[in-house]
Amino acid sequence: MNTPVLFTINAGSSSIKFAIYEVAAHLQELARGQISAIGGHSHLTVHLRGALDTHQEIDTPDHSSALDAILAACAPLLEGHIIAGVGHRVVHGGTAYTTPVVITDQVLDALAQYQPLAPLHQPHNLAGIRAARHAFPDAVQVACFDTAFHRGHPWVNDTFALPREYYNRGVRRYGFHGLSYEYLSGALKREAPELHAGRVIIAHLGNGASMCAVKNGISVGSTMGFSALDGLPMGTRCGQIDPGVLLYLIQEEGMDAEALSDLLFKQSGLKGLSGISNDLRVLEASAEPAAKQAIDYFVFRIRRELGAMTPVLGGLDGLVFSGGIGENSARIRREVCAGLDWLGISLDQDANNNNARDIGTGAVRVMVIPTDEERVIARATREALEGHAPSGKQ
Ligand code: AMP
Repeated sequence: MNTPVLFTINAGSSSIKFAIYEVAAHLQELARGQISAIGGHSHLTVHLRGALDTHQEIDTPDHSSALDAILAACAPLLEGHIIAGVGHRVVHGGTAYTTPVVITDQVLDALAQYQPLAPLHQPHNLAGIRAARHAFPDAVQVACFDTAFHRGHPWVNDTFALPREYYNRGVRRYGFHGLSYEYLSGALKREAPELHAGRVIIAHLGNGASMCAVKNGISVGSTMGFSALDGLPMGTRCGQIDPGVLLYLIQEEGMDAEALSDLLFKQSGLKGLSGISNDLRVLEASAEPAAKQAIDYFVFRIRRELGAMTPVLGGLDGLVFSGGIGENSARIRREVCAGLDWLGISLDQDANNNNARDIGTGAVRVMVIPTDEERVIARATREALEGHAPSGKQ
């Protein structure tokens, strides 16, 4: 008998991350992996449960052929299974989609309208959806949005101080990394319900980085805004910037939109500041003063946001670190928390150095929780399969 499995797909500009789950009483992860450098000579890594990682070099001209390569690599695993559902990470759900939604032609058209809001991500997410609909025409396909977790933002955190017509036209603080925050908030609900019911700041610190103020499980503030550029500096993105700088670059340096986009998204952040790398591991290992300065700026901005979010929450019960940096860099966590005893934040240095789950000793519980965006997508897809069709609004 064919037992059902579901796929999750997170399609970026030149990569697809995926995971495969068996739909049993609990979602059992069978495999996860990634194909990178789509559009040329690609590298496919598959981690099968209970086996060593496999690596493969393969030419993939587009997302469709990349998905074919993933399916071919996973074919032995998929024997005796039927792919019943496919869940997709979609960066932008606009103001309309506040929950996951089953993908139809109309939904796909609606999501395409959001491409100008996230030009570097949305078109690739949609390419992944088209490739998957082609590959699995009979599967239920579900879109899960990075913006959805933040849609309950209070108005003051949702708007810019522009004339109101801009807000009405969709120029809002959407906030991103919502799938990660949803996972982490769910983890708190299970293992630290008093925190879930309280006032928590979650720092998702990876190559993309943001922070979210969560009260009673609901996002009340986020550092990312209209785009995934705002807030913290990131691997290559600038984070918060005075808009006057942009006017100056346009008026005095003759930059056009394309050049600005490249500067702000790809040449800035840790990479731009250090002149060395966007990768924190490389910067931590470097003796160059510019590497330390880039790290100092990253830490400085995290601490500023921590201070800014605490009164928004009306106090602080918990601080959660996640993402590749938040989960692994004892140095960043130590520097972020240094001298914050007055706020109730102090660290057990041994626990911090060991990336332990609980690393705080003060009144504020400080935790390190690995995120799992794929599992959030898988859960939403399973719900759709079970007939609780997500009913994202349009
Ligand atoms: P992500 O985008 O969540 O995969 O995170 C990527 C970032 O995490 C990169 O800047 C990595 O350098 C950083 N990272 C991963 N592992 C470590 C580690 N052991 N120590 C410091 N940074 C790390």
